[in-house]
Amino acid sequence: MTDAPPIIQLDHVSKIYGGVRAVDDVSLSVAHGTFLAIIGPSGCGKSTTIRLINRLIEHDEGSIRISGEEIRSFREETLRRRMGYVIQSGGLFPHWTVERNIATVPVLLGWKPERIRDRVTELLALLQLDANRFRKAYPHRLSGGQQQRVGIARALAADPDVLLMDEPFSALDPITRNALQASLARIHKETGKTIVFVTHDMDEALRLATQVAVMDRGHIVQLGTPRELLHAPANDFVRGFLGAEDRGLRLLAIETAASRMRPVNGLAAETPAIAAGSDLRQALSEMLATGQHALRVEEAGRVVGELYLDDLVRL
Ligand code: ADP
Ligand code: MG
Repeated sequence: MTDAPPIIQLDHVSKIYGGVRAVDDVSLSVAHGTFLAIIGPSGCGKSTTIRLINRLIEHDEGSIRISGEEIRSFREETLRRRMGYVIQSGGLFPHWTVERNIATVPVLLGWKPERIRDRVTELLALLQLDANRFRKAYPHRLSGGQQQRVGIARALAADPDVLLMDEPFSALDPITRNALQASLARIHKETGKTIVFVTHDMDEALRLATQVAVMDRGHIVQLGTPRELLHAPANDFVRGFLGAEDRGLRLLAIETAASRMRPVNGLAAETPAIAAGSDLRQALSEMLATGQHALRVEEAGRVVGELYLDDLVRL
């Protein structure tokens, strides 16, 4: 028995604009269920890469396969159904209601009105938008964060295999961005969709992604898990992008308290407690704020372990 082919596979793919190699010899294999972040400075070829994957633009060299099939063999509507696409500014049609916007692809696919209605209801719930309030609203009545939620709902409408997102949260304020990141992490967990997410924000990439591809001048210079990148940046460019001084704190941010705790060993009941799922950066902040060198770790109201400053510093 052979394994299923990767859902997305690029082999030596290039895109050339008037002599400029916007994407230059990129090879990339994305397994089903991956959350891939593509990160790099402005102009390095992130958007071009994502548009090649949904064939909004054609590649000039190499091959792109979706579930093992050459992308050029797909019909346009098959690609639109199988790949949802979300861009920075939402891209909602201003003269259409939220419901009509979300229904864009299902309408194109000729779904029955009742099925569309039910799907819109389901997606509004998934994106935590009140159906009574938003179904008939027009985009200009929505905040930026709400518009992006509708944009994600629209991209998910026909239950695509892949969600392609090009800096979807870059224009949002930090609090809204944080809420949308949490929603997207939950949706990835609940649906198991393959997500390709372009960002220039390293914290966002490390928080969300299972795999991170770092791009520089059309090339992928490193592909790895957040942990691999932080522990072993491939070169100075990646190291610089991770932020030399922030790397230690970022390492803390990708580990949970549960992963570093020791067994319960009688820390006093008045010792501050932290949730098992908190990250180690939060744990460190709590220690610094309270002057404690150790914290109790709690899960579902029970103390499950103890976390010591020494174990954080040694990381
Ligand atoms: P990023 O999304 O990482 O900021 P892009 O993929 O948009 O970068 O662009 C990569 C390079 O390709 C840039 O040098 C950009 O100017 C160039 N480029 C992108 N799209 C076009 C186009 N339609 N025509 C000409 N050059 C383009
Ligand atoms: Mg871009």
